[in-house]
Amino acid sequence: MDRRKPLNPPGSAPAPTDRDTSRSTGSRASDGRGTDSRNTDHRSADHRGADTRKPAVAAPVKVTPTNSNTRVTTGRPALTRTPLPASVSRPDAVARAFNSNTRIGNPRTAVPITVPQRTAPITTPPRQDDNLGLNSERMRNALVARLRVQGIADERVLSAVQAIARHRFVDEALASRAYEDAALPIGHGQTISQPWIVARMIAAARNGKELGKVLEVGTGCGYQAAVLAGVAKEVYTIERIRALHELARTRLRPFRLPHVRLVFGDGMLGVPSAAPFDAIVVAAAGLSIPDALLGQLAIGARLIAPEGGARQRLVMIERTGAQSWVRTELEPVRFVPLQPGVLL
Ligand code: SAH
Repeated sequence: MDRRKPLNPPGSAPAPTDRDTSRSTGSRASDGRGTDSRNTDHRSADHRGADTRKPAVAAPVKVTPTNSNTRVTTGRPALTRTPLPASVSRPDAVARAFNSNTRIGNPRTAVPITVPQRTAPITTPPRQDDNLGLNSERMRNALVARLRVQGIADERVLSAVQAIARHRFVDEALASRAYEDAALPIGHGQTISQPWIVARMIAAARNGKELGKVLEVGTGCGYQAAVLAGVAKEVYTIERIRALHELARTRLRPFRLPHVRLVFGDGMLGVPSAAPFDAIVVAAAGLSIPDALLGQLAIGARLIAPEGGARQRLVMIERTGAQSWVRTELEPVRFVPLQPGVLL
């Protein structure tokens, strides 16, 4: 089956696909020259567009069963070995969180762990309360070796993964599991993405090119933004849950990455004031890719996003002209849902 399909311009009639012909109706493509003058200070920036909307304060974070790891699609039991921090102690949140933002059918247990002798330069500063200590570097070497075996070939991306201590982005109680190739809960029903997914999405978005400005939708705890910072000159990352936006700011601070700009707001609208982007990576699954994001891609740039509900697939959309986009479907995945509005 030919998975590459031309797309109609955002806002026009949908291009037929073999799995989902629905399009986002709530947004229109921006031409990338939006007049939005939101503050995008690298430490924090409020999404003014979203501020004018009614915040969904009362609604709890909704994760549908289709995004839960209670569905038996991988044949793997839920992973519950490590006692979890209070923030993720609800059993349903645990079950969902461990298996979201992952590839389906990930062969992680079958891959032998090898620890390369050579050590790459590290950008991660030491931390006082760091139980993993120097082991984390060896564990990252092993993680990168596994990613290589699992088909990640972009050395720039692998070095960026190597450089970032993933255990700094999860709760202390989960730190020892940070170098498994698995998603882990970060609270609020959300997850830090599986390292393979992070590397896969960034490598696909990069396409071997030097990246200037990139956008991540779904900051979560900030891990993927930190990895992106290793391959792009400027990283915008937007999160709709205020508490996670703040958490990411705290987690990222020690890494001193002034070219990472945290934005609070609804990423379905993108960040028009900073568009166009040389790549867009979406870390949560919508039923369709928001038109606003397609409009904020630079010509020649790629957007990588999970798409779907009960069944999701990673989708790559390349903007080939002012009014043309080409869609390619990649592997099946399971992500937390992309949701509209903000949670204060
Ligand atoms: N990038 C993260 C993964 C975070 S999980 C990592 O480094 O591992 C996905 C995140 O997307 C969640 O934090 C969720 O709150 C966020 N999200 C969902 N819908 C969103 C939206 N419309 N705008 C911004 N963030 C959104």
